Amino acid sequence: MPEITRVGSVEIAVARDSYWEAAPAAHLRDLDNNEIPLEHFGPALRGGDPQTVIRSRVLTFVLRSKGKTILLDAGVGGWGLWRFGDGHLLDSLKELDVKAEEIDYVIPSHLHLDHIGWNTHPGPDGQPVITFPRARHLFHRADWNHFTDPGLYERAGNERLHKTVSTCLLPVKDAGLMDLVGSEQQVTDEVTILHTPGHTPGSVSILVQSAGESALFIGDLVHLCMQLTEPDWSPPYENDRIQSAKSRRRIVEEAVGRDALVAGSHLDEGPIFGRMVTLDGRRFWQGVPLPAE
Ligand SMILES: [Zn+2]
Repeated sequence: MPEITRVGSVEIAVARDSYWEAAPAAHLRDLDNNEIPLEHFGPALRGGDPQTVIRSRVLTFVLRSKGKTILLDAGVGGWGLWRFGDGHLLDSLKELDVKAEEIDYVIPSHLHLDHIGWNTHPGPDGQPVITFPRARHLFHRADWNHFTDPGLYERAGNERLHKTVSTCLLPVKDAGLMDLVGSEQQVTDEVTILHTPGHTPGSVSILVQSAGESALFIGDLVHLCMQLTEPDWSPPYENDRIQSAKSRRRIVEEAVGRDALVAGSHLDEGPIFGRMVTLDGRRFWQGVPLPAE
């Protein structure tokens, strides 16, 4: 059954790709990159055990706005690079009856593997083939500069990162299908790219506004819902944890001010969209069910 919602006249379909999992206590650090005392998790986790693994997912979204079809994030791909196994985005698109040739824009929230994996897929000779051949691929300039700097993977000695860049990013540029975006950019007059750096230098969120309604797609600005309650918490591999906390506070304010639907690329298993609510003076992301067909 397709998972579809609407924001004004924008249709939003969920295309599931893969999954991941982590225990909050192992996954999150405070602003100084120190472990968070277990008892501090209580309110944000609503009494849950921070050492219990939370199963999550890798989601992408297909937006239809003003005659354009926009893919937000491109999943983990089929390159054997994701530790939880290859993704299913292409099957999910088939189920939604969306053809790869229909996609006008591919907009990754940032340039980590699990958001760019299906930019390409292995051809018969194993070489990368562009998956969405008509799409303009909009990459944030700060992420492009960061991830395509050969010094980055030479310093890190990270072969997986090297392979990700050479299979999922460089072929898009070589095919002439890449546009680099700056701080804020309009895609259609209902869809805007916001620069929300921190997780990576060029992380973006997508604001959808139509007919008085709005939604925010926040990528990996948070991995677990509790980071919207505790914006100072983030994973140890955050590029700039001070900046990512600032971006989270900004987005929480935007979401509250607009009463926007908020969806992440991952988030805890359960509802896909939610709204910010205030309980006992704290803000929580609260899931909202999809409208019935
Ligand atoms: Zn991710």
